[in-house]
Amino acid sequence: MDLRVDFSGRGILYTEEEIAVVAEVMRHGKTLTQGEHMRAFEQGFADYLGAGQCFTAMNGVSALELSAQLCGFRPGDEVVVPSHTFTASAYPYLKKGAKLVWADIDPVTRVVSAETLEKVLTPRTRAIVVVHLYGYVADMPAIMDLARSRGILVIEDAAQSIGADVAGVKSGAWGDMAIFSFHSHKNMTTLGEGGMLVVRDPELAALVPMLRHNGHCAYPDPRPGGGRDYWIPAMGNVDLPERDGTFLMPNNYCLGEVECALGLKLLERIDRINAEKRERALRFIDALADFPELEFHRVDSTRHNYHLLAACMRNGRRDAFIRSMYHDKGVRCVVQYLPLNRYDFYRKLGLDRADCPNADAFFDGQISFPFQHSLSEAEFDIMLEATRETLASLRETGGGQESGAA
Ligand SMILES: *Cc1c(COP(=O)(O)O)cnc(C)c1O
Repeated sequence: MDLRVDFSGRGILYTEEEIAVVAEVMRHGKTLTQGEHMRAFEQGFADYLGAGQCFTAMNGVSALELSAQLCGFRPGDEVVVPSHTFTASAYPYLKKGAKLVWADIDPVTRVVSAETLEKVLTPRTRAIVVVHLYGYVADMPAIMDLARSRGILVIEDAAQSIGADVAGVKSGAWGDMAIFSFHSHKNMTTLGEGGMLVVRDPELAALVPMLRHNGHCAYPDPRPGGGRDYWIPAMGNVDLPERDGTFLMPNNYCLGEVECALGLKLLERIDRINAEKRERALRFIDALADFPELEFHRVDSTRHNYHLLAACMRNGRRDAFIRSMYHDKGVRCVVQYLPLNRYDFYRKLGLDRADCPNADAFFDGQISFPFQHSLSEAEFDIMLEATRETLASLRETGGGQESGAA
């Protein structure tokens, strides 16, 4: 078998103009970190989002860790996270002292809803992490109403949903905080790693530059001698405020100038990338309409950017499908997002209990197709044809049809 279409390819291909932006900073950048390109990317991203203050970070996880620190957890505080998500949505909050509580997903949208969240809220719930998984934006108007009525913080994990919106407001512009990822697989990537933290409260936002960079801050002005002795007592101060009896701990989570310059440039193209992925997803879904045993979440609007193309086979033939796609057709699909409560890591920590039947049932039939923007039309056609043939032959070998009716 030779592999013709692989799930783990890079997210996008760069244009010559984008490569030139990188080379330009390599040649002439005044500094290679925390300079004009960082500030320009953060401002450009805030303008794109239309809300909040934006801070670049090394990757999505470092942005999540910063958001967890800004929550200022007290002992016993709970954070609600969907059980059906990437592990990085959860462990940063655990590291910063919160107790994790798993929420179920909606069976159709595959993301949390106000209903699934409400079921697991307690008086100790401090924050909810809403993950716009696969690139589909959860029902933020209802979720924000719920959270506001209970005084709960909302953090959006928008790692997969850049540019997608609901009710005319982009994902990441709804919550108290939000994070984005520019990892190699994502719809927009800053050379493999990169992230963004969005903070709404100006007081919390003011802490981020210090928290992100070693606790560095300025001494109060003026320095001795009316500012003349700029070096006294030293170049800069190190400080971070105490909150609720605990000190915030510093990090170094800065993103380099080259990545920031590229990130700003990619904002010009991200809506087009998303639109092209959505168009392709709909083409794939519609071409398989006569195989209802493969269930997709079809959304013909900017509420979905189709970062990933996920399906569910509830007839017990998922493994047979993936096996045949790989061994007979050379198309490597994968199964994603083992419910977090089922991972060894979370089980060892006593986090094995979850009342998430929809997440469990969805996962047991889950299939993720190769869907990076960098897939060629030829690869896409091979994958579509392979899928049709595999589904047809599964029907012939029996059992493939009876659960087709939704
Ligand atoms: C990619 C991803 C992250 C982590 O982002 P990195 O940039 O890889 O650290 C977090 N949450 C979700 C849902 C992701 O898909």
